Amino acid sequence: VSHISKTFRSKNIFGRTTSEVSAVNDVSFRLQKQRTFGIVGESGCGKSTLARLVLRLIEADGGRVMYQGHNLLALGGEELRKLRRDIQMVFQDPFSSLNPSMTLLDNVAFPLWVNGTSKQDGRIAAHRYLEAVGIPRSSAERYPQSLSGGQRQRVAIARALVLEPKIVIADEAVSALDKSIQAQALNLFHELQQDFRLSMIFISHDLHVVELMSDTVMVMYLGMVVEVASVEDVYAQPYHPYTQALFKSTPSMDVTHKKLDGFKLSGELPSPLNPPSGCRFRTRCPMAMETCAEHMPELIEVGDGHTVACHLYGEADVARRAI
Ligand code: SF4
Ligand code: MG
Repeated sequence: VSHISKTFRSKNIFGRTTSEVSAVNDVSFRLQKQRTFGIVGESGCGKSTLARLVLRLIEADGGRVMYQGHNLLALGGEELRKLRRDIQMVFQDPFSSLNPSMTLLDNVAFPLWVNGTSKQDGRIAAHRYLEAVGIPRSSAERYPQSLSGGQRQRVAIARALVLEPKIVIADEAVSALDKSIQAQALNLFHELQQDFRLSMIFISHDLHVVELMSDTVMVMYLGMVVEVASVEDVYAQPYHPYTQALFKSTPSMDVTHKKLDGFKLSGELPSPLNPPSGCRFRTRCPMAMETCAEHMPELIEVGDGHTVACHLYGEADVARRAI
């Protein structure tokens, strides 16, 4: 994914733009085969919009999404449909993705039917995938309403897998579940990833969830990427004050950082309608300097595959650390 951006504009009845929200601003990242790329940030930071841009559920203003040598953003019709089949999404609320008037089996078979598989073959495959996610055969004729949240999410996962995707995008897929059920769902994702050789984009506001699931983590704030690193590096040494604050604000995380001792994330996310000038985090950042209001920090490399966008880390600083 390179340099993808999206600004939502609302217009008045005369067609004049009345407000603009820069929801995703120049975001780039690389998802590696059979790995998990985690995206973390508070709600409203652009994580879900980013996922929808990649899948073209929303059209991007610019950028590229390269998959198997094709730019998904430039394709249309049959070509796009074929490639998009490889990328399936699992959402937070399985109620919205499951059809209440269909049995579980038919819910899972449905994407195959839409793609031209016969009724019978679709149902045979659906049985297999329901089994893979731990829904017993005896439950296949039940309806979504009769299930618990955890079971419903299993069915939604089966439905995403039935098309044999290569990539699964999970957007807050376990956030609505109780903690105990959450752990089961995460285990299930792990198992399925191995069994079906999936590459995953795992989106969550919860650092724990992202840590458990991801190989690489990208931290977003108000539509911008503020830090990207391997999961080990970001947890061993988070550079960006926002990443550090996220750790401090997550009770059971045992990460200490001298400079920011005691700093917890406070204050509301500023309105994306009117983001702060310069660094968008500066209104909540205890380290903010004059330059932070004037210049938007660019992502710079602070370690192997570790990038951060913050004026605290200039090129000189990085060079010094390397010595
Ligand atoms: Fe804080 Fe400035 Fe870094 Fe932004 S650029 S995170 S305001 S120190
Ligand atoms: Mg979201």
